[in-house]
Amino acid sequence: MGREGDGEGFLVFVQIWGMMDRALEVLRRVWGYAEFRPVQGQVVEAVLAGRDVLALLPTGGGKSLCYQVPGLVFGGVTLVVSPLIALMRDQVEGLRRRGVGAVAIDSTLPKVLREKALQEAAEGQVQFLYASPERLVMESFQEALRGLPIRLVAVDEAHCISQWGHDFRGAYLELGSLRAVIGEQVPWIALTATATARVQKDIIELLGLREPVVIRQPFYRPNFYYAVVYDVDKDKRLLQSVKKLSGSGIVYVSSQRGAVQVAERLRSWGVSAAAYHAGMASQLRSAVQEAWIQEKVRIIVATSAFGMGIDKPDTRFVLHYDLAAEPEAYFQEVGRAGRDGELAYAVALYSPQDALDMERRIQEKYPAHPFLQALYRQLEGWAGAERRLRLSLSQLTQRAQVSAHLLRQALHLLSQERLLEVQGEVGQRAYLRSRVGPEVWQGKPLSPQAEWVLRLGGAALFREGVYVDLQDWAQEMGVEYEELYRELEGLRRLGWIEHDALPEGVLAISLRGRPTPTQWEAIRHKYRDLLRAAQVRLRFMLGYYQQRSICRAQYLLRYFDEEIPPCGQCDVCRGYYRVEEVSENTLEALQAELAAYMEVPRPVREVQGFLRRRFPKSAEQILEILIAEGQVELLSDWRLRWRKKK
Ligand SMILES: [Zn+2]
Repeated sequence: MGREGDGEGFLVFVQIWGMMDRALEVLRRVWGYAEFRPVQGQVVEAVLAGRDVLALLPTGGGKSLCYQVPGLVFGGVTLVVSPLIALMRDQVEGLRRRGVGAVAIDSTLPKVLREKALQEAAEGQVQFLYASPERLVMESFQEALRGLPIRLVAVDEAHCISQWGHDFRGAYLELGSLRAVIGEQVPWIALTATATARVQKDIIELLGLREPVVIRQPFYRPNFYYAVVYDVDKDKRLLQSVKKLSGSGIVYVSSQRGAVQVAERLRSWGVSAAAYHAGMASQLRSAVQEAWIQEKVRIIVATSAFGMGIDKPDTRFVLHYDLAAEPEAYFQEVGRAGRDGELAYAVALYSPQDALDMERRIQEKYPAHPFLQALYRQLEGWAGAERRLRLSLSQLTQRAQVSAHLLRQALHLLSQERLLEVQGEVGQRAYLRSRVGPEVWQGKPLSPQAEWVLRLGGAALFREGVYVDLQDWAQEMGVEYEELYRELEGLRRLGWIEHDALPEGVLAISLRGRPTPTQWEAIRHKYRDLLRAAQVRLRFMLGYYQQRSICRAQYLLRYFDEEIPPCGQCDVCRGYYRVEEVSENTLEALQAELAAYMEVPRPVREVQGFLRRRFPKSAEQILEILIAEGQVELLSDWRLRWRKKK
């Protein structure tokens, strides 16, 4: 089709112009907005012109409208690829509320409803069909797609296609093959909140975008105040920070237990806070989210599960109690604050221990290849000629002699590689709440397990209850899952607790065909590369936390290939680390003195007192600098030791 012919060019221009009018009309009628935001408008225009588009818009940039509006203008069905069920549901609900037909085909949808949805799409009642990449590459699903009038394909979170993107998903790699199924003439739009040059290149190549228009919104947010706080006592700094900051905020932690505990601590200090994590029942999650949005709760303490599809433009701060290991995640998480354009704070609490913890978590995410291979061989041995195996997770951990955590991760990777299939619950998450006050528990002889439940559950056990991974608890207590379950049942019969734990389920593992040495080699390479990419991202973030000489915003945006002048308002720009009280010479002399003083480990408080006597005004800053530089080492018993230079 001659887009280059002069006369036709004019015609195309007039058509797009007309389409833009229709797009605006749709925007007003369906969403009630008068105009597109500047970058949104550019994207919509390019899509309407029938071009393939790569749109890079930060979180909160109104990404979904970029395909939803053109989708409605085109008519027919827009196929949306989305990596997360929660994300799909948010989008589908949002569209339905506006009277637009939308449906998400995910694994939780029964087959009957799946077929009904596809039928409705064929009949024109559904305009947006959401599906995960894993489903889209299934042959049966592709067959169903052939019968649909698909006019646009949108690939959300498109960075997942690249091993250099932060949450790589194997099935994304096969999406390019959909073109043949859907029709070569259908335009594609790929969207992502974060993508480096390398990831952009991967997206374009692997999805097979044709001469795509690349549109990006600058990531720099001039209303942001970035700061890193160095201390070994995060709780003290957390309290100081939330007292200093005003308005609503989010505190990010890395574990579900952390979310419950930190929220608990904040409340014990009289700060309004609630926990939010993926282990909570969805009703409770929405209730917590709603309370926060309506400002009945000031601070939400959340794992990274929180934030998708949530828009509270006047969020005043995002505080990382546990640090982000990836610049993409960090940028996305802090990006939830200050969308109203008013000053917003992005504060990270850094303790030297964090670097080690993050490195360990990455190692756990990608189990070593010899372990994967050995585990697979063990499974083969136990499965015998039938190549099928039925046993519980705790039986498996005992046989394999590894932690439940590592085993889950390994099973996950092996099934992703389609070397095996696991049926049944791999995780056992349960809700626990005490139905009686603490006084009932006290003074009664308790079994060791009940003591543990009391200790691990903490104060939340007596209020809103806790959501816990019982496998982890059982391992921590050193008992069998079934034993812990029986104990919980006993406590329930006494009327002391309520819980929804189930007796441990059986996993059905079926092994697929034996992988060849070449296949193993490919798997080894893939996970080695993924591990390396994760380590590169971690090093970048550690650099962000540890350095105190480059403007924070400048440093962070460099990752996204954006050059900006110093922001003028981060902790570095404000000269927080230029300690005026201490000259270079005295600092050197001080180092020698401190080295002698801290040759024996000293409690943190004692070191603070020592510094305060010498430098009443800058003691805190000096300790921060020493921690940031790794000059002092935090021991597990909360004492500090001088680190000898090699
Ligand atoms: Zn700055």
